[in-house]
Amino acid sequence: MIVIMKVGATEDEITAVQKRIEEQGLRTHLSQGEERTIIGLIGDKTVIVEDNLMRMPGVERITPVSRPFKLASRDFHPENTVININGHHIGGNQVIITAGPCAVESREQFLEIAACVREAGAHFLRGGAFKPRTSPYSFQGMGEEGLQIMAEAREETGMAIVTEIMAPEQLPLIEKYADVLQIGTRNMQNYALLKAVGKSHLPVLLKRGLMSTIEELLMSAEYILAHGNSNVMLCERGIRTFETYTRNTLDINAVPVLKELTHLPVIVDPSHATGKWSLVQSASLAGVAAGADGLIIEVHHHPEKAMSDGAQSLKPDRFVELMNQLRRVAAAVDRTV
Ligand code: PEP
Ligand code: MN
Repeated sequence: MIVIMKVGATEDEITAVQKRIEEQGLRTHLSQGEERTIIGLIGDKTVIVEDNLMRMPGVERITPVSRPFKLASRDFHPENTVININGHHIGGNQVIITAGPCAVESREQFLEIAACVREAGAHFLRGGAFKPRTSPYSFQGMGEEGLQIMAEAREETGMAIVTEIMAPEQLPLIEKYADVLQIGTRNMQNYALLKAVGKSHLPVLLKRGLMSTIEELLMSAEYILAHGNSNVMLCERGIRTFETYTRNTLDINAVPVLKELTHLPVIVDPSHATGKWSLVQSASLAGVAAGADGLIIEVHHHPEKAMSDGAQSLKPDRFVELMNQLRRVAAAVDRTV
């Protein structure tokens, strides 16, 4: 349920409505738009006498919200959430590009790729220090050493670092080095992890579970928001379907659907969505054309030697080419890169 206040409702009127709702044991969420304020109700709405609320000064109307996600929904918060990371605004007009290798493999490898993607115009750097691998015998990431290398790359390039967190106990360590916490597809419903990052001061990039519905993705975002962190970005990274030609199936529909349902920024990951470098370009352009607020793309200077996800990694020159195409597609949909 949301209470929509009249245009020009005073601070006192808004506070009085909030107080009345909270006295009945519910929580409120305030969304102050340019024109009007919306008060969202969280908790057992059966105790609310709608007619009494309706009679309070400044109230225009009361609308039920039937969706199970509240804080994440556009009904609660009609305006886009814009997250400022290092001076770049995700969810605004600019499409924010995050690029880098799947995993940090060595200092030389990461610094070289970081310099290339920066030169090409990427905004943020990605790299995994803790890797969720299907096989326990595969490279698991460099751990803290990998984080230190990323921090050095940030010093050199000025770019924010996006890296995956796999367990709540890694939070203090990763918070020391990273600018954005990535929750991987396999952990989208790891509720202990969602609660932990909900208490972090860092923004979260939440990837869609490989078998999860859009609603389940939004319910996972709701966990993070409900624990106090309002800086959540949602990432469509492909889902598992009957099709095996590609690693996953990019659900391009998810982009406009999410933009309709939620105020949170939407990011597309064309690398994991396709699993093949030759398809990354088309999937990236499609993502931006569909309304994505950002892309996260794997780039490697020697994909044939990469310790993970080489097959889907772009070489630096292809990434440069892609950035040029992205600028044109972004302009066609009135955005910049
Ligand atoms: C990654 O970004 O390298 C990764 C493991 O992504 P996902 O969780 O989407 O598979
Ligand atoms: Mn990867």
